Amino acid sequence: MNATRSKALWKRAQEKIPGGVNSPVRAWKAVGKSPRFISRGKGAYLFDVDRKRLLDFVASWGPLILGHAHPKIVASLKRTLEKGTTFGAPTPGEVELAEFVCKRVPSIEKLRLVSSGTEATMSAIRLARAFTGRSKIIKFDGCYHGHVDGLLVRAGSGPATLALPDSPGVPASFTAETVVAPFNDVAAVEAAFGQYTSTIAAVIVEPVCGNMGVIPPLTEFLPALREATARHGALLIFDEVISGFRLSTGGAQELYGISPDITCLGKILGGGLPLGAFGGRREIMDLLAPEGPVYQAGTLSGNPLAVAAGLATLRELSRSGVYAELEGKGKKLQEGLEAILDQHRLSGVVNRVGSMLTLFFGVDRVQNAADARCCDRDRFARFFHGMLKRGVYFPPSPFEAAFISLAHGRRELEKALQAFEVWARREGKGTPR
Ligand SMILES: *Cc1c(COP(=O)(O)O)cnc(C)c1O
Repeated sequence: MNATRSKALWKRAQEKIPGGVNSPVRAWKAVGKSPRFISRGKGAYLFDVDRKRLLDFVASWGPLILGHAHPKIVASLKRTLEKGTTFGAPTPGEVELAEFVCKRVPSIEKLRLVSSGTEATMSAIRLARAFTGRSKIIKFDGCYHGHVDGLLVRAGSGPATLALPDSPGVPASFTAETVVAPFNDVAAVEAAFGQYTSTIAAVIVEPVCGNMGVIPPLTEFLPALREATARHGALLIFDEVISGFRLSTGGAQELYGISPDITCLGKILGGGLPLGAFGGRREIMDLLAPEGPVYQAGTLSGNPLAVAAGLATLRELSRSGVYAELEGKGKKLQEGLEAILDQHRLSGVVNRVGSMLTLFFGVDRVQNAADARCCDRDRFARFFHGMLKRGVYFPPSPFEAAFISLAHGRRELEKALQAFEVWARREGKGTPR
């Protein structure tokens, strides 16, 4: 495979950009070799600078649920662009988007727009502390909530593969208010509440984990978090930066029937542009400046272009049948992968919720970060490159979610499964059942 232009750019990038990338997972550290540089995307496909076409299951790490360069988003961006890109003043689009989100996600009575998921979780935690007058936060091993200092403890994919469970540069005093529990472990949460009674401001959780690979919540887990936080006077924060608008219009909270106090959104919300949000009960949100005393601000918050892309995306997702379609595609891919694993006697498990899934090799059950860490990373790296060789681009880390978009048709899913079959046959040493 020649990737001449990518290789030349990679060399230049490493000279001037730390590690050659502007976000660590893009460097392919977990799978080796140098990353492809992308020149454009259309529908389910990416095109790299060497003119190779790649069937994309990364979807920019989640936002692109409609695929690349969707005509409705492009048109909306063009219309908006003509009128100027930012005003630092209120705009009609922000109101429309806020109304839209509140209608779709009933636990959100008011919300504030920000420019990234990290800003959303950081601000949600500040607000939870102000509302409760308490300081401690419970988070889960393997859940990632952006690169907020206090949350960069056992923080999922990036830090897990880079072996940076705590990043240098984050003082111990900054994470001293963070308590970590295993995902899906109700007893550990009860123990944490027991130990730190009346100092826990909030529990923050990815209701469906996407950042240690996909891990669904066990049936009792989210209801137990809702009940325990309420009983102990703490807030429940759902980080739905991935799951919001991915699993249903109302996110994981609609799917599992749990109403959190604060919700964080990002990724799909901005339709591929930088946008995040946090919102929740009115009495909590009204603590924010200028209404209340909790400071939070942003020069480009609610940026008109990002809002336009977000609104265009959410409108498309409001069409009936969209989530059933995504579920059907996810199921087809999962069942296909499982059948091929089985056929070639490769051990592994596919975790999936709707259109997000992870294939963990070498394990047969993954319910938390400790389980995920047991997966076969070498085999994953071979899988990644085997698929890439056949034009299929999966996330370059065993601890990430693969995303299916509405642009992935039957042909795309079959292409991915064919590539997997060819790879699996070799990997299983040609001894099919
Ligand atoms: C991506 C992600 C974030 C951080 O969002 P950024 O826009 O990258 O800052 C936070 N929480 C979850 C669950 C995420 O997947």
